[in-house]
Amino acid sequence: MPDETVSGSGWSAAKKVAEQVSHHWWAVSGRRVLSLVVLSRAPYWYVGHYWRSRMDRCRGVGCEACAAGCGKQVRYVFCAAERSTRRVGLLEVGEYVAETIHALEGRHNGLQYMCIEMAKHTTANRSRMEVTYLDEDPGSAFLDLVPSDPAGALKRTWEAMDKERGVRPAKLAPIGPGKPANAAPTGLAKPPKWKP
Ligand SMILES: [Zn+2]
Repeated sequence: MPDETVSGSGWSAAKKVAEQVSHHWWAVSGRRVLSLVVLSRAPYWYVGHYWRSRMDRCRGVGCEACAAGCGKQVRYVFCAAERSTRRVGLLEVGEYVAETIHALEGRHNGLQYMCIEMAKHTTANRSRMEVTYLDEDPGSAFLDLVPSDPAGALKRTWEAMDKERGVRPAKLAPIGPGKPANAAPTGLAKPPKWKP
């Protein structure tokens, strides 16, 4: 049996794989309003630092950001498709926005296939993100979309970031099997309460 995640024939299969390996990240800026259908059943989360002008994961023991006294925060990643194009992407948000999405989940009876709109409150760069619930049925066109893998996408992003900064892999705490990014965070006053 050929491994169809590596090679195959046909446009639609290729497109699905392309969406998986390219890991598009949704960003809201300026006056853009993102209209999305959430594909995740539950968010993926990790503990991170806003460190050297970027969001990076906490490396646990020996973490440079921790040693410098940089505060930890829980980050949430959702997979969502754009309603107009059906393009699949990932959305990373902080605790405040995640809690808003969590609160809306009750209205929809679950996170998956919930329609939301995301926009900045004002056009200022650091303006807070607003989430609006759309009481709509996304339709059957979204049911066959394959969600992106947040863990894989984050790993690639972090590895690329380390390469850019010249961090040698030997210095890093292992990621992946044996050390899941979803391990319970330590040193946080309020651990995430999200029930999948
Ligand atoms: Zn840390």
